[in-house]
Amino acid sequence: MSDRDPDCLFCQIVAGEVPSDRVHEDDDVIAFRDVNPQAPTHVLVIPRQHVADAHSLADEDGPLLASLFGAIRRVAAAEGLENGYRVITNVGAEAGQSVFHLHLHLIGGRPMRWPPG
Ligand code: AMP
Repeated sequence: MSDRDPDCLFCQIVAGEVPSDRVHEDDDVIAFRDVNPQAPTHVLVIPRQHVADAHSLADEDGPLLASLFGAIRRVAAAEGLENGYRVITNVGAEAGQSVFHLHLHLIGGRPMRWPPG
């Protein structure tokens, strides 16, 4: 897997070429607010390296998954989501994926319904 796709919007956000409202970053991942929020908190957590989607992860990507969920935990705590939150990753166009760089949606701050649409 290559580190960067020059045509990828989220790679451009990682590089700082496209602005974002960052709420967390470390060596492996960054987190920033979704430009079209679906709840009071709607943050995207993404790897710095380009990975198209969750289906493209390999068995050896366990440490990256730990970093992604570590960021989720930290941002959720910082946002005061002690009553709960939802973590979503869309895989493929039929599931609603529109940016093909792996991202976890962290959504919270309002009651959620199930099943999702
Ligand atoms: P998905 O449809 O699961 O691929 O989610 C992509 C998300 O990226 C959507 O919720 C968009 O609102 C969000 N998004 C697209 N462009 C930007 C941007 N420049 N900054 C922040 N969020 C974005």
